[in-house]
Amino acid sequence: MLHKARRAGLSALVLEAGAGVGGTWYFNRYPGARVDIQSMEYSFSFDEALQQEWRWTERYAAQPELLSYANHVADRFGLRDGIQFNTRVTGAVWDEERRRWRVTAEGGESWSARFLVMASGPLSSPNTPDFPGLGEFQGAVYHTARWPREPVDFAGLRVGIVGTGSSAVQTITTIAPGCGELTVFQRTAAYAVPAHNGPLAPAFEARVKADYAGFRERNLKMQGGFGSLLPPNPVSALVASEAEREARFEERWRTGGFSFLGAFNDLLLDERANALAAEFVRGKIRSIVRDPDKARLLQPRQTIGCKRLCVDTGYYERFNLPHVKLVDVSQQPIERITPRGLLSGGREYGFDALILATGFDAMTGTLMRLDLRGRGGRPIREKWAAGPLNYLGLMIEGFPNLFNIAGPGSTSAFTNVMVSIEHHVNWISDCILFLNGAGRETIEATQAAEAAWVEHVYTVAKRTVYLTCNSWYLGANIPGKPRVFMPLFGFPAYAAKCAEVAERGYEGCALSA
Ligand SMILES: Cc1cc2nc3c(=O)[nH]c(=O)nc-3n(C[C@H](O)[C@H](O)[C@H](O)COP(=O)(O)OP(=O)(O)OC[C@H]3O[C@@H](n4cnc5c(N)ncnc54)[C@H](O)[C@@H]3O)c2cc1C
Repeated sequence: MLHKARRAGLSALVLEAGAGVGGTWYFNRYPGARVDIQSMEYSFSFDEALQQEWRWTERYAAQPELLSYANHVADRFGLRDGIQFNTRVTGAVWDEERRRWRVTAEGGESWSARFLVMASGPLSSPNTPDFPGLGEFQGAVYHTARWPREPVDFAGLRVGIVGTGSSAVQTITTIAPGCGELTVFQRTAAYAVPAHNGPLAPAFEARVKADYAGFRERNLKMQGGFGSLLPPNPVSALVASEAEREARFEERWRTGGFSFLGAFNDLLLDERANALAAEFVRGKIRSIVRDPDKARLLQPRQTIGCKRLCVDTGYYERFNLPHVKLVDVSQQPIERITPRGLLSGGREYGFDALILATGFDAMTGTLMRLDLRGRGGRPIREKWAAGPLNYLGLMIEGFPNLFNIAGPGSTSAFTNVMVSIEHHVNWISDCILFLNGAGRETIEATQAAEAAWVEHVYTVAKRTVYLTCNSWYLGANIPGKPRVFMPLFGFPAYAAKCAEVAERGYEGCALSA
């Protein structure tokens, strides 16, 4: 956004809480942290020279390499002097008279800005459950999203880990062999499909780079903005023969990654089709995990893909290590953390270190933590008390000249997020240039457009399997958070709608002179 704004001749300043660039990849330094979208796709497309010169070493890049990439981009485009690090924004208030935002940071420093772009991340506010006794634990406690910079040595230690989402799957897979004992506390079993990660094949890299622009174009036509290398099979799982189904699932399992959910065209749309894919993965788990009790607990019962699918590198295999234990806390929730471990089902489990892989207050958490006040001093916390009202995911009625990147109401969480970010940055930049060109001072969503948009997001979700489980897409991982389905499914239709709104002079928005 900074680069784009500067190129558009705007003066811009980035306020960043961290001490460096990278966001997600700056903070999530847990062992095994890596992308689940292929590196050649999870990267910026806005500069041909950048995408030609950067060389990924692995098919799925790990956190250190992603952080190097973010630093490379910052240096290559001379962005550092436009970023004020170690600056945590605490709030922003719309000044109606001056028609500007007053932004305030911890320590009291403040700025005045005509436009305010929230690029504060869909998954940047870690969720730490309110376990009684957490402060009394005598060993070290780590949250995957706030992992220390120095590597942590678990050799010979008894480690407890709470959670089995994407971060947990990666952490468990990586640390299990080296721990003295690893106890995994599982509330909901995760579906994980193999990544088949490895060194990036030079021939593949050359093939993509020979027509990187074309590759990006083809990806933009995919529902998630990625995956054109193996597009979804346009056939229903319900009409395919059993042999055909097995063959397609097996083929995708061998290819690895999210392509599995494209084995048929209705896996995310029809629960009966979904059940066939789910049973295929459960069969894989049964064939991998030797201990029948562990295998039973590891087999998920919810629809597959409803919670974000995990992409792994030997997750289920780790449960064949005798020192890796699995405790089901779905029926007997964690009662408390004790000085020596954790109490669940009346039994105390002891360990030396505790890892919380408990995810994020997703999509809305970061904005809701701010003292963000729009027209008439109305706080975002009030406006969004029953769920995140917005238009196109980009604008909020009553919050003029404020834009949100990769937030609720947009396709971000269902896409290669890099694609969504670039799309939003371009749209916002075009919008600001339009306002300047047309001599308009402010833009904001109308209430009617906002209400229709939130309804649209829900209508689309109803056509999918995403409402059939408790996920962070629904806010279900945070006690007391309204159950509202936040992301929108389907990038191409969303991008077309955003373009149409702009072409029609920002239809659904109120513009002031
Ligand atoms: C572990 C993990 C793995 C992921 N893997 C993938 C993947 O494989 N593919 C994919 O598409 N997506 C993935 N994501 C989603 C990921 O969040 C996005 O891909 C991407 O990093 C989002 O970029 P962003 O710039 O919008 O947000 P972030 O990277 O989260 O950056 C937001 C920035 O805003 C700053 N900030 C927040 N609040 C404030 C404040 N009040 N004041 C100042 N600064 C603030 C934060 O410090 C942070 O630097 C993953 C997320 C996580 C957590």
